[in-house]
Amino acid sequence: MEEKCPICHQIGEKVKNITVKHLVLDDIAEEINSEDIHYLCMNENCNIVYYNLNNESLIDKKKVKVPIWFKKDANPKYVCYCSKVTEEQIINAVIVQGAKNMKDIVNLTGAMKNGRCILNNPLGKCCGPIIVETIKKALGTIG
Ligand SMILES: [Zn+2]
Repeated sequence: MEEKCPICHQIGEKVKNITVKHLVLDDIAEEINSEDIHYLCMNENCNIVYYNLNNESLIDKKKVKVPIWFKKDANPKYVCYCSKVTEEQIINAVIVQGAKNMKDIVNLTGAMKNGRCILNNPLGKCCGPIIVETIKKALGTIG
């Protein structure tokens, strides 16, 4: 089966139903059943967050309880959804407080302290790799 977002036609990432149910508005969550297979649209410019190819249901940004960090105009841009740590906080920890690695970020921001990524992260995955990426990006800006 094609995994492309029906709106922007980019390939999405498969996400577990438990994650989708937890993050969408309650009335939509009620309609999700166990056979549904949801994908997260990874295109920053597309308004669709989750799509389900079995019944062609589309869940856009307005129907999701949290901003999706990589989507254009996400505010705030959470990197760690469990501890509500934003990209800005991580960048500040690196630039202002001198954090150099994951351990520093965990100590300074409290990121990754309540690992419930399967429920809280829009992909249902641990935010660790994205924290690492954000640290690298911030370190890059200070040379
Ligand atoms: Zn899309």
